[in-house]
Amino acid sequence: MKATTKLFAIFGDPVTHSISPLMHNYALKGLGIDACYTRYRLEKGDQLREKFFDLKLHGINITVPHKEAAYRACDTVRGVAEKIGAINTIVLERGKLVGYNTDAPGFLKSAHRFGEIKRVCILGAGGTARAIAVAFADEGTDVTLLNRSSGRLAFFKEQGFKAYDWQSWEGGEFDLVVNTTSAGLIDEMLPAPEAILSPLLQNARYAIDVVYNRTTPFMKLAERLGIPVKDGSEMLLFQGVFALEHFLGGRYREAELLPWMQKAFEKA
Ligand code: NDP
Repeated sequence: MKATTKLFAIFGDPVTHSISPLMHNYALKGLGIDACYTRYRLEKGDQLREKFFDLKLHGINITVPHKEAAYRACDTVRGVAEKIGAINTIVLERGKLVGYNTDAPGFLKSAHRFGEIKRVCILGAGGTARAIAVAFADEGTDVTLLNRSSGRLAFFKEQGFKAYDWQSWEGGEFDLVVNTTSAGLIDEMLPAPEAILSPLLQNARYAIDVVYNRTTPFMKLAERLGIPVKDGSEMLLFQGVFALEHFLGGRYREAELLPWMQKAFEKA
C-alpha cells in the first residue's frame, strides 16, 4: 500500500461477517481509485474517535452495536441522521468527523423500487425502525409502528407517530409492511402473532424484511399470501453506495458505483 492510498473501514462487534469490505473494494478497484477498505473490530464505542485517528482512516461505516456511539463521536452530523440519532457513515473532512445515516435512504431506495408508498407499517421499535420511520415521515409518508412491547414506543409517540403494542393494535391498511425486528434472524419466529400478521399482510401491497441472506418466516408468510416481498440485501447495497458517494466526496455517482458494488452479492 502506498503512503497516498486512502484507507476506509467498517467498525463493529462482531464484524467478521460483514460484506461491506467486499462491496467497497469491488468499486474502488473497478474504478481505479487509490484506496482500500478493511474491517476493524471495535469493542468499546467510546474509543471510536481515537481508533479512527490512530488508524489514519479517511472514512468508516459503523455497524451493530456502535451506531449511537458514532453519533456522539462526530463533530458534525448531516441530513436525516440528526433526527435519528444514529450514524452508519463517518467521513474525515478537513480534520473533522462528519456523520451521515445512509441506512435510511438506502432503505427508502429499496422500498420505492416496489412502487408508490403512502402508508407504511413498521414492525419493531429498535434502531432500524427509528431510522426507517424518521426517513419515511420526512418525505411525507404516513407511518405506523407495531411492537411486541410498549417500552420502546415512547420515542415514537413523542415524535408524533402512531405506535401500538400487540395488545392495543387496531389493524389497518398499508402499502408496505416492514419487519425490523430480530424475530426470524436466528430462529423460526414471526415478528407478531399470526392473527395480527395475516390480516395485516393481506391488506398490504408489499412487504420487506430488513434481514438479509435468509428467507424468514415473515417473508414465507407474505409469499404464501401472494404479497410481493424482498429481504434487506437491496437496503444493504444502497446504504453502501450512498456511503461510498460520501467517502469519495461526491465525485462518483450511484450509476457508476452500483454495478461494481452489486458484484459482492453475486459472490455472497
Ligand atoms: P434492536 O435490537 O434495536 O430492536 C429489536 C426489535 O425487535 C425490538 O423492537 C424488539 O421488541 C423486537 N423483537 C426482538 N425479538 C422479537 C421477537 N421474537 N418477536 C417480536 N419482536 C421482537 O435491533 P435493530 O433495529 O438494531 O436491528 C433489527 C434488525 O435489522 C437486525 O436483524 C439487523 O440485522 C437488521 N438490519 C439490517 C440492515 C440492512 O442493511 N439490511 C441494517 C441495519 C439492521 P421489544 O421492544 O419488545 O424487545
